[in-house]
Amino acid sequence: MEPTLTSSIVILTGAGVSAESGLGTFRDTDGHWTKYDLNDVATPEGFARNPVLVHEFYNARRRNCAGARPNPAHLALARLETGFNGTVMVVTQNIDDLHERAGSRAVCHMHGTLSRALCAACGHRWDAPAVMAADDPCPGCRTPATRPDVVWFGEMPYFMDEICAALESVDLFVSIGTSGSVYPAAGFVEIARSAGARTLELNLEPSDTASAFDETRQGAAGVLVPAWVDTVLATQ
Ligand code: NAD
Repeated sequence: MEPTLTSSIVILTGAGVSAESGLGTFRDTDGHWTKYDLNDVATPEGFARNPVLVHEFYNARRRNCAGARPNPAHLALARLETGFNGTVMVVTQNIDDLHERAGSRAVCHMHGTLSRALCAACGHRWDAPAVMAADDPCPGCRTPATRPDVVWFGEMPYFMDEICAALESVDLFVSIGTSGSVYPAAGFVEIARSAGARTLELNLEPSDTASAFDETRQGAAGVLVPAWVDTVLATQ
């Protein structure tokens, strides 16, 4: 499952790649997500109902993210980008910035990022402060409609045109630490396969879409990813 010279790699990452950095996954039994109802904190309707609760949730996640460090999986993907003789694009569902802090530059945050704020009234974006509040005024239009710049259920993920274009010409698609339960990301393997790419899944357990991959490897991302990157770089 290693690409040949001048090939391109698209890597999809999910919460599992940040699990060993101490950021809980969606399905962790003791994670943030178990203390909050998804419909309350990750939908536009939940924000309309209770913006204070939503900000409380994302402020806590921003604080945890600031205290977390990239793990060997993030570091290996940054090493791949630097050392690979073709193109490497990381498409992440994560709203943390651990790929960037590990050194990856070609990172596409399809579900937005904790580090940015968005005005729900005018669409203006700015760097998020450590703590946001429901009545913070937008620096652009002054409306108190500040929300995290994250994509909620029912909203269109970001960069879909760029991601689909990359998937349609990719040689190798690798999915890391994602359960394959959230679309459209869960459908990326099929787009890449239809375009003739080889496909590899690296996950703690077989994902919901495991059967769509040419190869799956089970284990912790912090172990599997560095080993896979070493092989790619040694055989290119
Ligand atoms: P998920 O929680 O549904 O799935 C995580 C997957 O990672 C699971 O299949 C699990 O088996 C696997 N996993 C757990 N620990 C692992 C490890 N150490 N190594 C390898 N795999 C491991 O998360 P998802 O698929 O990313 O999708 C759910 C949604 O949750 C996404 O929209 C995402 O934006 C959001 N989310 C993001 C973060 C973050 O930004 N760090 C954290 C939690 C959830």
